Amino acid sequence: MARVAVVTGGSRGIGAAIAKALQAAGCEVAATYGGNDEAAAAFTAETGIKTYKWSVGDYEACTAGIAQIEADLGPIDILVNNAGITRDAPFHKMTPQQWHDVIDTNLTGVFNMTHNVWGGMRERKFGRIVTISSINGQKGQFAQANYAASKAGDIGFTKSLAQEGARAGITVNVVAPGYIATDMVMAVPEKVRDSIISQIPVGRLGEAEEIARCVAFLTSDDAGFVTGSTITANGGQYFT
Ligand code: NDP
Repeated sequence: MARVAVVTGGSRGIGAAIAKALQAAGCEVAATYGGNDEAAAAFTAETGIKTYKWSVGDYEACTAGIAQIEADLGPIDILVNNAGITRDAPFHKMTPQQWHDVIDTNLTGVFNMTHNVWGGMRERKFGRIVTISSINGQKGQFAQANYAASKAGDIGFTKSLAQEGARAGITVNVVAPGYIATDMVMAVPEKVRDSIISQIPVGRLGEAEEIARCVAFLTSDDAGFVTGSTITANGGQYFT
């Protein structure tokens, strides 16, 4: 039977590439998104993958949304925590709101989603959870204290849950991308982007599909012995 996969923030960017890769791998896929109805509608029209709107930062909305997806597709086997935002500012200018927005989406959102699928995965003795962290959660980044803290937190969360899930057949892993050519990165000024590219040893931005292929491996039945790990996909920019 086809595995059921949920990809948060699956309507655009890296998440859309992940959703398509899992669909190509034979999964029944649901993609969630936060608010951009137009992008979600275009994605569904292109792929046939149904999209669901709620904020991952809202625990009750996650409970209700996941119940809806399970009613539509069946029990969830695979969760990809991909939804993420940035609210950059040097620390002396960072507002509490910028801090909380990023932590709520990138870290608490991962708790909210994972907590709502964990019980079912434990009962069925199978689960695959992959969270998309970032190179900047590994090395830190100027003006991203909030983002780096959230993404480093995702790695600690993953290493802990990997230990709790192992006996229940649940693997929990991270993919930490470097700079990928999505809206998030293309939104930075061209001059800044050129300077970013000059720091990437392979000499280019990554493609969303390159991250999606890492996720497809980690969520496959073949990856049952891989848990608690972080796949670093950053063109050689940073080694852990
Ligand atoms: P995009 O901005 O292109 O897409 C973000 C997706 O997340 C959208 O589908 C968006 O929905 C959704 N989303 C945002 N906030 C929420 C929320 N509160 N609840 C539910 N969904 C939400 O991002 P990328 O594809 O660039 O990034 C994807 C992930 O990869 C993020 O976690 C990011 O931090 C990480 N990453 C990205 C890198 C890059 O270079 N692009 C590098 C390293 C990590 P909507 O369209 O409705 O807004």
